[in-house]
Amino acid sequence: MDLFEYQARDIFEKYGVPVLQGIVADTPEGVRAAAEQLGGVTVVKAQVKTGGRGKAGGVKVAKTPDDAEAAARDILGLDIKGHVVKKVMVAEGADIKQEYYFSVLLDRANRSYLSLSSYEGGMEIEQLAEERPDALARVEVDPGTGLTLEKAKEIAVAAKFPAELVDTVAPVFVKLYEVYTGEDATLVEVNPLVLTGSGDIIALDGKVSLDENAGFRHPDHEALEDKDAADPLEAKAKANDLNYVKLDGEVGIIGNGAGLVMSTLDVVAYAGENHGGVKPANFLDIGGGASAEIMAAGLDVILGDPQVKSVFVNVFGGITSCVAVANGIVKALEILGDAATKPLVVRLDGNQVEEGRAILAAADNPLVTLATTMDDGADKAAELANA
Ligand code: GDP
Ligand code: MN
Repeated sequence: MDLFEYQARDIFEKYGVPVLQGIVADTPEGVRAAAEQLGGVTVVKAQVKTGGRGKAGGVKVAKTPDDAEAAARDILGLDIKGHVVKKVMVAEGADIKQEYYFSVLLDRANRSYLSLSSYEGGMEIEQLAEERPDALARVEVDPGTGLTLEKAKEIAVAAKFPAELVDTVAPVFVKLYEVYTGEDATLVEVNPLVLTGSGDIIALDGKVSLDENAGFRHPDHEALEDKDAADPLEAKAKANDLNYVKLDGEVGIIGNGAGLVMSTLDVVAYAGENHGGVKPANFLDIGGGASAEIMAAGLDVILGDPQVKSVFVNVFGGITSCVAVANGIVKALEILGDAATKPLVVRLDGNQVEEGRAILAAADNPLVTLATTMDDGADKAAELANA
């Protein structure tokens, strides 16, 4: 989960990373009040989860509350790379002498952490990496020993900070690393990290990505979610603890086990080639125990997708008996009642398959078609989606 700049700022402050005051507002009047409260020169900054706000006109320096209000009128509603600005942060103005870059991130390929840093900040890091790769220091940080003060100094030297600045920036790198590990982040990036006229180091813009798999360790992270931006179907699936990913096609997919669901996506995409090019509409793994409640929740999410024309339920009874799955489907359709309107193709196999199929046959729901193999099921579901 990526955070907004103001959320990163708040977390930085909690860990003792030097930041400036910032107040979030969503109206020009609110921005004026915030600028009055902060006093002096302020900077009005678009809060969108994308970089390059400065260049897109999303960062404006304001000398007076009047200026700040005018800047807010320009910035609120602005579209920056497809992100519409709904909130701005009014930040204390900084007297910038120099701009630097620092980040620490998860290096999956090397099963380690990586710090990127540069004495030459102020430009986009992708551009710097391409045009001046020697100006960007890449230093591995061993997760076991972490980013010690000694390591931080090594990083500062590698990034070509002059000797007199190494001791000033190194403790800030250590604090940023504490944010990274303390919050279970996969990225902590500061661009720019600035040196002010009075010689202070300040994190002027922060980007933090949190590892959602560590969410159970951080009950406070849930409040950081941008509820407005979440896909409503994905939010509903999440609320029901379902492993759901929305895709672009027409055939809803329910299966048990990630491997089986992935294969089902392939088989449906393949079958779709004979039926007008229909494709899988989602990934949904209902896991081991396919109870009626879980099946109903899964079907509810999939049927809520207006793009879905048919649903393919592909379940292999291993520890779970096909009887439980069949009962789950029958009860789920009862629970959903009139909300269930789209045809369902069901393929069951494995533990107690005959009994399971008998239950579905006896229920005789007009929406349900039984398939004997995965290929037949995929073909039937694709055909129905194309009807
Ligand atoms: P980004 O373009 O989305 O990365 O947004 P930033 O927060 O990094 O801001 C872009 C640029 O605006 C920075 O590199 C600074 O040069 C400038 N800027 C941001 N805050 C201030 C400030 O308080 N005072 C001044 N003078 N410039 C600022
Ligand atoms: Mn920036």
